[in-house]
Amino acid sequence: MAGRLLSIGECMVELSQAGEGLLRKGFAGDTLNTAWYARACFPSDWSIDYFTAVGDDPMSNEMLAMMDGAGIGTSQILRIAGKTPGLYLITLKDGERTFSYWRDTAAAKKLADDADHLRAAMESAQIIYFSGITLGILAPEAVDTLLAEARRAKASGKTVVFDPNIRPRLWSNKNYMLKTIEDGARASTLVLPSFDDEAVHFGDKDVAATIARYKALGVENVVVKDGPGGVTLAFGSTPVVHVPSVKVDKVVDTTSAGDSFNGSFLASLAKGGTPSEAAAYGAAVASTVICHHGALISPNLLPK
Ligand code: ADP
Repeated sequence: MAGRLLSIGECMVELSQAGEGLLRKGFAGDTLNTAWYARACFPSDWSIDYFTAVGDDPMSNEMLAMMDGAGIGTSQILRIAGKTPGLYLITLKDGERTFSYWRDTAAAKKLADDADHLRAAMESAQIIYFSGITLGILAPEAVDTLLAEARRAKASGKTVVFDPNIRPRLWSNKNYMLKTIEDGARASTLVLPSFDDEAVHFGDKDVAATIARYKALGVENVVVKDGPGGVTLAFGSTPVVHVPSVKVDKVVDTTSAGDSFNGSFLASLAKGGTPSEAAAYGAAVASTVICHHGALISPNLLPK
């Protein structure tokens, strides 16, 4: 069955070191990464659309051109006159990556300011995807708008998918962060947390505790990712299942492991795979992604 997935969030300009005094420009962001892998793995009769707000400057134009070139739909993206995208710089020191951000005035912070536009975009999709980073960049009133629309989409029978992706630096207050992540989960039908984040911020002692906490919030389906430890699926009332990761000889760059898992997992479910089959496929895709540099690797490199 054909359909549309709408991924909502912030794509930023990425600058990374490219030799003496030179910087390489790219575009990335967790929800865009997931859209990229969804596009690569969903059947071609599905459209994969991105939803954000950008400016009307040349960098915003290039960003949308990059998405269009990847087959990711941009027609619903808001354009805000006079604004520009957020930007981050990756610096390498002794092999460790450090990130500096310029995103306080990014256009994407306004993505939920037009509730009617957001609702129309959501109504056009069967699967809606957003993350804790999407919520973390928004002002409190915009969080309320986005979550109200997500709850509305869930109530109308859509699949609403949420990756908590907890990033404390985006939030001014820890209690508000945790409460808003919980509200994001409550508005969703499927939550895809990473255990290491959940353990640090919610104090979960094991994967079972993460599952129990989200189930207690009323989330129907929970998939906990645990790096090389694989994933644990708690789908509806079926028994909890563990699916191992795919062993990798040499991890090159774990950027986008979770995002690529999410996009390919959803693709496999859309093709009619069982949750366990989808998790095995997601693990195969993520294990390929972490053997290459960068967030977005060529779709040609991915397992079918
Ligand atoms: P996130 O990037 O969101 O923190 P994880 O680190 O849990 O997510 O990774 C997501 C998925 O990527 C895992 O479920 C697993 O399939 C795969 N993965 C991550 N790290 C490794 C690894 N070292 N070896 C094999 N697979 C991995």
